[in-house]
Amino acid sequence: MSSIGTLYVVSAPSGAGKSSLIKAYLAQSDHALASVSVSHTTRNPRPGEENGVHYHFVDQAKFKSMIADDDFFEWAEVFGNYYGTSKAAIENTLAQGIDVFLDIDWQGARQVKKLKPETQTIFIAPPSQQELLSRLQKRGQDSEEVIAKRMAEAQSEISHYNEFDYIIVNDNFNQAVQEFSAILTANRCKQAAQAQRHQALFNDLLG
Ligand code: 5GP
Repeated sequence: MSSIGTLYVVSAPSGAGKSSLIKAYLAQSDHALASVSVSHTTRNPRPGEENGVHYHFVDQAKFKSMIADDDFFEWAEVFGNYYGTSKAAIENTLAQGIDVFLDIDWQGARQVKKLKPETQTIFIAPPSQQELLSRLQKRGQDSEEVIAKRMAEAQSEISHYNEFDYIIVNDNFNQAVQEFSAILTANRCKQAAQAQRHQALFNDLLG
């Protein structure tokens, strides 16, 4: 059976609420419908992050050998560290008809869209500069220096907003989750996916 799961790229500047949004969506939806791909990274784990859950944490040598072995679907250097989506992380899941979210930046979004044009891309924007800064400060995981660097990076991430298929402004969180859910539901109802999913039904209906 060919893949009927949809691949989504979800991008946002740090602090726009992307991870919370995906988490809230997954908590309210059927686990057989969607999952998040776990990326590889060379950055150090933050407090509370678990290997194999938030990321596969690897050193530079391992990451480079995976690049050489063509193990990555896409990879990029972000904030001086390497990040990448392994082929293994997505292909098997999509083949089971489960939607996969790639929580990656605009560079990754571009690469993935080129490799797999049917990929749906979603951009999450914060409601204002001020709110973005205050969310980064409240997170309390990064130093002032890292926060300042991330604010500058946010500007560059936001400058690519017009390359995405969908945009969600994360002002009211519940509404943002609803919009996210609506995008996924609409895509699942597309003709090609439904025809494949319900082949037996249509065979029966057409007797
Ligand atoms: P963080 O270090 O805050 O977890 O992530 C930093 C940035 O790297 C975020 O913009 C995140 O979306 C991006 N990122 C995480 N995993 C990947 C990946 O596998 N590929 C790409 N291209 N970017 C990633």
